[in-house]
Amino acid sequence: MAETIFAKIIRGEIPCHKVYEDDHVLAFLDIQPLSPGHTLVIPKEPAETLDRLSDESAAAMGRVLPRICRAVQRVTGCSDYNVLQNNGGMAHQAVFHVHFHVIPKPDTERGLGIGWPASRLDPADGARLSQALRDALGEQGS
Ligand code: AMP
Repeated sequence: MAETIFAKIIRGEIPCHKVYEDDHVLAFLDIQPLSPGHTLVIPKEPAETLDRLSDESAAAMGRVLPRICRAVQRVTGCSDYNVLQNNGGMAHQAVFHVHFHVIPKPDTERGLGIGWPASRLDPADGARLSQALRDALGEQGS
């Protein structure tokens, strides 16, 4: 995959406001926060999108994320927050290295604003899609 700014941050070639680091995971403050405490949590493994991440890195991220969320809550005083993870340009991914945003929601103005164009799930579509997804997961050996 192409080199990203996050790879340079992992290697220490570009500074960041570090929040957490272990062998697999790095967390640091977003340089353009949606609210104070907006934190990025990234695997050190250079995967572009979440579907390409190894089980080992995924497990490490899963272990750390709730801890980062609790720290962000404690320090910002915000009980409410969003965890956002974008994959692909259409889905608003700008940096092509997996990252989770932890974004405090202090009030209605700051933090993540969400458009949520909900529709209604047709029962026949639901049955077909859930079966297709179960089949796809079976193919992955999950
Ligand atoms: P996304 O749209 O999900 O790819 O988000 C990428 C995020 O990376 C944005 O919120 C940027 O503000 C953030 N970002 C880009 N460069 C840096 C940097 N050098 N340090 C911290 N955050 C960054």
